[in-house]
Amino acid sequence: MPSAFTHEFNTPAFKGKVSFSTGLFINGQFVDGSDNTTIDVINPTNGKVITSVSEATPKDVDIAVEVAQKAFDTVWGLNASGATRSILMGKLAILMQENADELAALEALDNGKTFNFARNIDVASSIDCIRYYAGWADKVTGQVLETTEAKLTYTRHEPIGVVGQIIPWNFPLLMMAWKLGPALACGNTIVLKPSEFTPLTAIKMCHLLNEAGFPPGVINVLTGYGGTTGNAISSHMKIEKVAFTGSTLVGRKIMESAAKSNLKNVTLELGGKSPNIIFDDADLEQAVNWAAFGIFFNHGQTCTAGSRIFVQEGIYDEFLKRFTERTRSIKVGDPFAPETFQGPQVSEIQFNRIMSYIESGKQAGAKVEVGGERQGTEGYFIQPTVFTNVDSSMKIVQEEIFGPVGVVIKFKDEDDVIKQANDTVYGLAAAVFTPNLNRAINTAHRLKAGTAWINCVNSFNANVAFGGFKQSGIGRECGEYALHNYTSVKAVHVNLGHKM
Ligand code: NAD
Ligand code: MN
Repeated sequence: MPSAFTHEFNTPAFKGKVSFSTGLFINGQFVDGSDNTTIDVINPTNGKVITSVSEATPKDVDIAVEVAQKAFDTVWGLNASGATRSILMGKLAILMQENADELAALEALDNGKTFNFARNIDVASSIDCIRYYAGWADKVTGQVLETTEAKLTYTRHEPIGVVGQIIPWNFPLLMMAWKLGPALACGNTIVLKPSEFTPLTAIKMCHLLNEAGFPPGVINVLTGYGGTTGNAISSHMKIEKVAFTGSTLVGRKIMESAAKSNLKNVTLELGGKSPNIIFDDADLEQAVNWAAFGIFFNHGQTCTAGSRIFVQEGIYDEFLKRFTERTRSIKVGDPFAPETFQGPQVSEIQFNRIMSYIESGKQAGAKVEVGGERQGTEGYFIQPTVFTNVDSSMKIVQEEIFGPVGVVIKFKDEDDVIKQANDTVYGLAAAVFTPNLNRAINTAHRLKAGTAWINCVNSFNANVAFGGFKQSGIGRECGEYALHNYTSVKAVHVNLGHKM
């Protein structure tokens, strides 16, 4: 019997008791992993163990795939109408709404993000996403294609079957919603692995899935490590599609496992090193505020983080002065305190990784304008950090740091900044600040990125495509685009009387 997680929240932001089973979620039940092992869940504000959750093994992946296939063949897939799927997904969205504070509190506890952001961004956007795809479930249709009068030709967008989904720790609940939404709307069954660093909201969601009434086996959630459980999913012979969000490094492994096993269909949402471009004529106060939100939101652990801030030479000095002040004013601390903007980084590994990037910047001769050190002595807190005096050979300019560390770089004109901004292997997002619409749109179009923001940054909607150019990914999530990842298109040709 898997153990239960019981926790009494007594924080300024949320008071209340939570209690739920922490097993693997297979066929609608909470069970132990087949090796009876567990994973410790760590609170990043103090490094202490919160609880432990069951650890899945490759054998559990086999079991989950089997029940998911059975559900697909009997109660889901082409055996459940779009309307049925839509109703269940709608119920899930309502339950998420009813449990919004609890979900947000769990996310804050496990990940370290602030309760306020978790509640107003992560949980709110997750609900939007499930509701949005509930609307799609009965609108996934093929086409009738005119060929000749002797033939009826049409396409069916059939569900793929059992799909594998592997998600990261930076937006645990939201990445789960982005994966579940389109997969369920299209009628697939699911084996999903949350990040080993943040399993709690995914497990809570399993309780809500049961409460909503999803048939057993439609969604299976296996908490486990990447190299074992994750790899067993991406290399499974009976999973025909894997969707992954995480680092570019692991994305490569996913593709390799897919290639070496059954050539499963792969979609990837990977890292970034997004440029944030501020022209001379930008509203300076707004540009400073957005640039800070661009890099420091979610403690810099955002795949679209505007980590390279390009500022035109005419306003460079003034921008830097104000941006430095703005950065210094960011409140770092307890995720449950109402005034906190930035909590701890998610884990000790990430903390060490980010600190070593900061060290490498210092070693390479970059100038720390603000921050550059650990904050406090307990937990994984890092000061919001801004570097200047950088060049394109430095690691802090080229590599994704995934922490609260930005570089500010001066540029001359449009051609100069486009060349510098596109000088990266990534292509996830970019932002442009200027009131001049011609310049804004021209620049946005010339940037090699899957998302271009004009006079804003880190803005997402459930109905708007999201994904990367270049090494930032393959395929698009959100919007109608994500549905393409979860159907197999079948062309049917019906002879209406042509004799051979
Ligand atoms: P990660 O790549 O280390 O892990 C992501 C997931 O993959 C986790 O569940 C992990 O357990 C699993 N995994 C690890 N090794 C695996 C393997 N060999 N086979 C199968 N699965 C494996 O990434 P992370 O540290 O959790 O997240 C941070 C990264 O994710 C950053 O690079 C960030 O940019 C990226 N990210 C991208 C997006 C996006 O939409 N583009 C969104 C969020 C995060
Ligand atoms: Mn944690």
